[in-house]
Amino acid sequence: MRKKLALLLLFLFPLLLFSGKDPLWQRAEQIVKTSIIIDAHEDIPTTMLNEDVSVLRNKGHFDLPRAFMGGLTAPCFAIFTNHKYDNNHPAEFALRELANVYEFAFQHKDKVLIAYSYRDILKAKEEGKLAIIITMENSSPIEDPSQLLLWKRLGLRMAILTHMKTNKYADSSTDEEKWGGLSPEGKEMVKRMNQLGILVDVSHLSDKAAAQAIQLTTLPPVASHSDARALNDVPRNLPDYLIKAIAEKGGVIGVNFFPYFLSERVKGPWEEFWKKAGELRKQYGKEADEMIKKERKKLPNADIKDIVRHIKYMVNLVGVEHVGIGSDFEGISMAPRGFEDVTKFKNLVYELLKEGFTEKQIRMILGENFLRVFKKADEAYLKGKGSAF
Ligand SMILES: [Zn+2]
Repeated sequence: MRKKLALLLLFLFPLLLFSGKDPLWQRAEQIVKTSIIIDAHEDIPTTMLNEDVSVLRNKGHFDLPRAFMGGLTAPCFAIFTNHKYDNNHPAEFALRELANVYEFAFQHKDKVLIAYSYRDILKAKEEGKLAIIITMENSSPIEDPSQLLLWKRLGLRMAILTHMKTNKYADSSTDEEKWGGLSPEGKEMVKRMNQLGILVDVSHLSDKAAAQAIQLTTLPPVASHSDARALNDVPRNLPDYLIKAIAEKGGVIGVNFFPYFLSERVKGPWEEFWKKAGELRKQYGKEADEMIKKERKKLPNADIKDIVRHIKYMVNLVGVEHVGIGSDFEGISMAPRGFEDVTKFKNLVYELLKEGFTEKQIRMILGENFLRVFKKADEAYLKGKGSAF
């Protein structure tokens, strides 16, 4: 009889898992439902130039229906300007993206709001809305620090001085060094951002530029979408000393989901692919598109467990209060297995529960840590000159 029962249980166990009755899954779902989930970097405004993200799409990583399905509270909408506009009216381009974001919020005001303060994030959660946090990637559209107040008034909460290339404000982690870190004007930008409560985001900055920005900022520094270099040695990932420097000033690092940043295992094939794609492009021009697409399909992917690995590494290094999520969704050409789009936060929570993280720790990683630094930024703004204007 006992044997029969054991056999029955053995048979039922996978069924239980499959039907979602696994208690860990139930806990994960509950945590997602009741947590503030902030994603510190999504390239949605770029997607919005050509796509309607208010309806379910069968591509990309974000749209409104999927965001609600996944329990996302507040994605950071990065106003991204390609470096090709750096000396060619970058503000015009950035404002086009921002105008789209405003129009989107206006058209769907029953479902979304723009978060001008951390309180708006809480309000959105309470009302079952999505809070849009406006951020910037490549600050070339801001011609000089005196324009920051206007951008603050337009909702800008966090900004990265540059992107893949060195610009007038800062050296990039993926380009030649020009300033030995931040330019004099870049330093002025950081000081003005501090007064206005705009968080200084060091993702994409060269190590020297990031170290200087972290030292100079009086607000908690952030790296919105960066992984740990100790686990995968690429220039876009942060070395331990920068992770520690961010933590020492109360900041937060959002773990990036790009497979090439996440996993040393996939790094080699991806680098070969980029080399080959460059050669094909040189040889065949536009006609290389199909060949490149075919090659891209063969690339190895990372896994949700790689995301967990980076989270665990940083938590062990500096503590759970300094780690968050910065998926880079809509800006990455491939998302890891298990976290394919914004519907999959529960998978991450499940994995973190399995690793022994407590509910409180998981909530911090999901969004409370970023909420804390946005609150600090609001306090600085209220104390500073900007709010009196
Ligand atoms: Zn980026």
